[in-house]
Amino acid sequence: MTDCPSSPADRLDGVLATLRENGLAARISTSPSVLEAHSHGEAMDAARLPAAVVFAESTDDVATVLRACHAHRVPVVAFGAGTSVEGHVTPAEHGISLDLSGMTDIVELNAEDLDCRVQAGLTRQALNAQIRDTGLFFPVDPGGEATLGGMCATRASGTAAVRYGTMKENVLGLTVVLATGEVIRTGGRVRKSSTGYDLTSLFIGSEGTLGIVTEVQLRLHGRPETISAAVCQFSNLNDAVQTAIEIIQCGIPISRVELLDDVQMAASIRYSGLTGYEPLTTLFFEFAGAPAAVAEQVTQTEAIALSNNGLSFAWADTAEERTRLWKARHDAFWAAKAIEPTARVISTDCIVPISRLAELIAGVREDIARSGLRVPLLGHVGDGNFHALIITDHTPEGYARALDLDRKIVFRALALGGSCSGEHGVGMGKLEFLETEHGDGTLSVMRALKNTMDPHHILNPGKLLPPGRVYQG
Ligand SMILES: Cc1cc2nc3c(=O)[nH]c(=O)nc-3n(C[C@H](O)[C@H](O)[C@H](O)COP(=O)(O)OP(=O)(O)OC[C@H]3O[C@@H](n4cnc5c(N)ncnc54)[C@H](O)[C@@H]3O)c2cc1C
Repeated sequence: MTDCPSSPADRLDGVLATLRENGLAARISTSPSVLEAHSHGEAMDAARLPAAVVFAESTDDVATVLRACHAHRVPVVAFGAGTSVEGHVTPAEHGISLDLSGMTDIVELNAEDLDCRVQAGLTRQALNAQIRDTGLFFPVDPGGEATLGGMCATRASGTAAVRYGTMKENVLGLTVVLATGEVIRTGGRVRKSSTGYDLTSLFIGSEGTLGIVTEVQLRLHGRPETISAAVCQFSNLNDAVQTAIEIIQCGIPISRVELLDDVQMAASIRYSGLTGYEPLTTLFFEFAGAPAAVAEQVTQTEAIALSNNGLSFAWADTAEERTRLWKARHDAFWAAKAIEPTARVISTDCIVPISRLAELIAGVREDIARSGLRVPLLGHVGDGNFHALIITDHTPEGYARALDLDRKIVFRALALGGSCSGEHGVGMGKLEFLETEHGDGTLSVMRALKNTMDPHHILNPGKLLPPGRVYQG
């Protein structure tokens, strides 16, 4: 351990001097615009300027930065694309933001085994564009243009999780730089292994608090022979939710089933220029597979929708129409923002077992009505996961009203056996709910893990875990 002068400014100087000695001078930026761009993610206001931003280009760069930060006790937050929404990337005071967005190589592509290894800064859109010719694709699709390292760190999912799973199911292994700068590899290329603790899963969803991911071994999937998309509108929200529940309960292997309520649909029609649809509660469906299998899924789904008072199916058969539809779905957050461009939008992210979804959404609608706030609803309803996009003004009172509604929604979900976050993660925004969700004993074990892996708490401090008791054994 090097000497550790007490002042944070001295410690930071120590780190920057070490990085310069190690040839990283050109990767350090303290320009005001760069610092500002790394001071916050999306949606949450919790901004703080980092003392410096370091742009990594290799695992060695990340290891050099962490070795120096560990030695000098300087906090460091990994930064992918900054699209996270719970204050995840807000730096600690006098801390460094370590930007991995320049690490964009595909390290290996094993088409015959349906896997690949990529650097952590590659986005999923860039990966899919580069492997298009192989007939393979990577299915996890959060709405933002996120990096695969950031998606590992938040255990991200998206519209296709109902068929393909989340990052948890689609990552085979990782290269991780630990807090000390030591580099380890977890997992491998095989589809299953029963050897040792599952460290890959430990890092997935750890939000940069246990180590920094520099490479990811991903599962790829064959592009389906036939893809078909349809839209069904409903005059009643509960009928749409019931349709989604029954599709899942019947075991129909649907690729996507997404809900937009009437408020969100009106906003999306305006924002994305969707034509031919009414501002009514809507389900977006996608079916994929061999032609006969797709036809069967469609028949079953249509029957369920119609038995729940769905209006007729509108088909998006061409690739262009499907792209337009799913782009509109992915842009739903921006469409909601455009309802009141000067307002702020706070997204909830709760999830419940599918059988409790209708009950949850009915209760949430009552909470929304009582709040007097404007709140579009949308979600990955096939997973039991949805977002209430709370639109509020920029005053402290507006923020307090929105948070009050968010809490009511979260506690409803927890009471139904759910979770306060299906995909966005904890960051700072969900810290207050973790004890209710997991209990003191479980959190004490998580804190013991954190202390072991990052004894000086340099890795994204203040995120994911509220302070409290540490399991002692
Ligand atoms: C419009 C919109 C729609 C969205 N839709 C979805 C959705 O459908 N599903 C969903 O899951 N999310 C969604 N998100 C949230 C966001 O896109 C995800 O959380 C995403 O995984 C964040 O990736 P990122 O690269 O932007 O990470 P960042 O925001 O840069 O970082 C997120 C967290 O990961 C850590 N981190 C980043 N890179 C690494 C690394 N290499 N190693 C270790 N830690 C790292 C950071 O320190 C931070 O704690 C949406 C966001 C927006 C703005």
